[in-house]
Amino acid sequence: MASKRSVPFPQPARPLTQRIAPFPDLLLEEQRSEDIHRNAERVCRTAEHVSAATLVQPLFVPMTAKEMCALGWDELDVLLINGDAYVDHPSFGVVLLARWLIHHGFRTGIVAQPRWNTTEDLLTMGRPRLFAGVSAGALDSMLAHYTAFRKKRHDDAYTPGGKAGARPNRACLVYTNLAKQAFPDLPIVLGGIEASLRRVSHYDFWTDALRHPILMDAKADLLIWGMGERAIVACAQRLERGEDVRGIPGTAYDQGLPASPPAVLAAQPYVTLPSHEAILQDATALLHLTQELEQQVHRRDAWAFQPVGKRAVVLARPAAPLCTEEMDTLYGLPFTRKAHPRYTHPIPAEEMLRASITSHRGCGGGCSFCSLALHQGRRISSRSAQSILAEARRLGLQRMQQGKGPIAISDVGGPTANMWQGHCALEQRTATSADDTAVTAKSACHRSSCCFPSICKSFITPQNKHVALLRDMASLQEVKQVRVASGVRADLALRDTMALAAYTGEFTGGQLKVAPEHCAPAVLQLMRKPPLEVFESFLEAFTRQSRRSGREQYVVPYLMSAFPGCTDEDMYTLAHWLRQRHWNPRQTQCFIPTPGTIATAMFYCERDEAGNPIYVARTDAQRLRQHHILMQTEATPATPQKRRRGHAGEGKNHAR
Ligand code: SF4
Repeated sequence: MASKRSVPFPQPARPLTQRIAPFPDLLLEEQRSEDIHRNAERVCRTAEHVSAATLVQPLFVPMTAKEMCALGWDELDVLLINGDAYVDHPSFGVVLLARWLIHHGFRTGIVAQPRWNTTEDLLTMGRPRLFAGVSAGALDSMLAHYTAFRKKRHDDAYTPGGKAGARPNRACLVYTNLAKQAFPDLPIVLGGIEASLRRVSHYDFWTDALRHPILMDAKADLLIWGMGERAIVACAQRLERGEDVRGIPGTAYDQGLPASPPAVLAAQPYVTLPSHEAILQDATALLHLTQELEQQVHRRDAWAFQPVGKRAVVLARPAAPLCTEEMDTLYGLPFTRKAHPRYTHPIPAEEMLRASITSHRGCGGGCSFCSLALHQGRRISSRSAQSILAEARRLGLQRMQQGKGPIAISDVGGPTANMWQGHCALEQRTATSADDTAVTAKSACHRSSCCFPSICKSFITPQNKHVALLRDMASLQEVKQVRVASGVRADLALRDTMALAAYTGEFTGGQLKVAPEHCAPAVLQLMRKPPLEVFESFLEAFTRQSRRSGREQYVVPYLMSAFPGCTDEDMYTLAHWLRQRHWNPRQTQCFIPTPGTIATAMFYCERDEAGNPIYVARTDAQRLRQHHILMQTEATPATPQKRRRGHAGEGKNHAR
């Protein structure tokens, strides 16, 4: 695609007109950090972003030619192909992007879960004018299809009737090939979590092999990684103008030959990642690659480059996170929150998410097993309180108009509930270049987590404001009750006793999810989790507050077995710890080495982050044994305490 365009690539880099101040002294006053935060919000809109006539948002994004014609559209500008069924809810990335594109004036349609033995489904609405986007869905398709012990799953929460089998394994590859067949010469853009986490060489647990960057196998023209709102709109705008799409922040491309840095990098800061072959020779290089990539996402200004044989993939610098104003606009789009009317069977994910509200994205935690570090990143984009309250009111009103009572909001959250409006006191988000394009300034921070090994003094999390928001929401006449079901980070909660009392006494629906993950110090260290004492202090405070407010409620601790570095001995320690508390370990999941995480790289090379050898339960038998060590605690006598409920231990630890 790009090579056929006449506009030269790369464009010369322009100097920043606004220089970023040197790394300042530590600022402890929250007020001052908020001023910085607010200023940053003001300048974070890009020239490419502010554009285009807005189309009227349809009730549902069209899925058929008939629906498209009913909107007065004679063709699509963009077609999005998705591995999940279409539920018009902002928790589904493809749906969010479809409505965002429409908001920016691009007629967009969705083909959900197409048959992959024919191109017929893709051709339903004809050839799109600009490009086709491909996503495997909300989960990596292999993770969606197989358990931690590589057994086939029979359920799929993102499919009508909850049945597995509506999408292929390695959906990105299959759908891309299908799109190439259906629309020869049309640009194909990959995105979503599967593509994002496989953007460079990665370990694939399901074949126990190192795989090439997905662009080398999928033959797509561009890959959007991370949260894609800015990149997908920029891509549509550039194609509209007949311009080259390579180099858009938050994207990657296969540069083909040669395996040396392209000319564009002469004017840009960039990191050279270990080559695919270097990783094949020395597994530790995968750990270096993942650490470098994590830093590339965080530092904001750098490109990345990875040689693969005689070719190379090039990653442009990360896209800037959305500011509050943009988040408000995005989540304020008229999502019906229902499955498309074509479906005759309920979609489990729709049921689960119906009464939930997203308040923010991104997580400063940086846990080593979590894919968020490389996908959403550590910077947090939050919606305003007004926008969240308006959504709660809207949801309540809809319910009341159906003759039902006020709504019970099942969750207000993001990856970590108590990080709403969390930010770094030392950061200015963006500078502005000569052409008024927002350019992210390099972060001077080299930490891999804002919370580990201890909470950074510059990490501001105004939990008092979060609690005020929850109380305002609960006081709306359209709202019956408000719950926080997303995980609460214990070490942050302990920083604010008033907030902890409120979470415990007012917004916990009987159970509060917390993720200590383990109790063995060495394992917690490898996970980048706080020491066990932090969880125990939290537990004590939670129990005290629950008693004080007269509520019988429980902490649901998430735990993990077979983590790299975790020995059988460590699992016995964990089992003993659980037994002492009369806890049933049914919330334990076996670690799954999903592509792209630091923990997966440790699993692959059997070394810790400093390069020291560690034990890894590698085979299915070793992993099962660790899992069973915990399960044996079920044999302990029942206790007066209520047993915790939850799914069995073969969870999908993709976003934890
Ligand atoms: S660890 Fe987080 S809060 Fe601290 S300086 Fe770095 S980015 Fe800022």
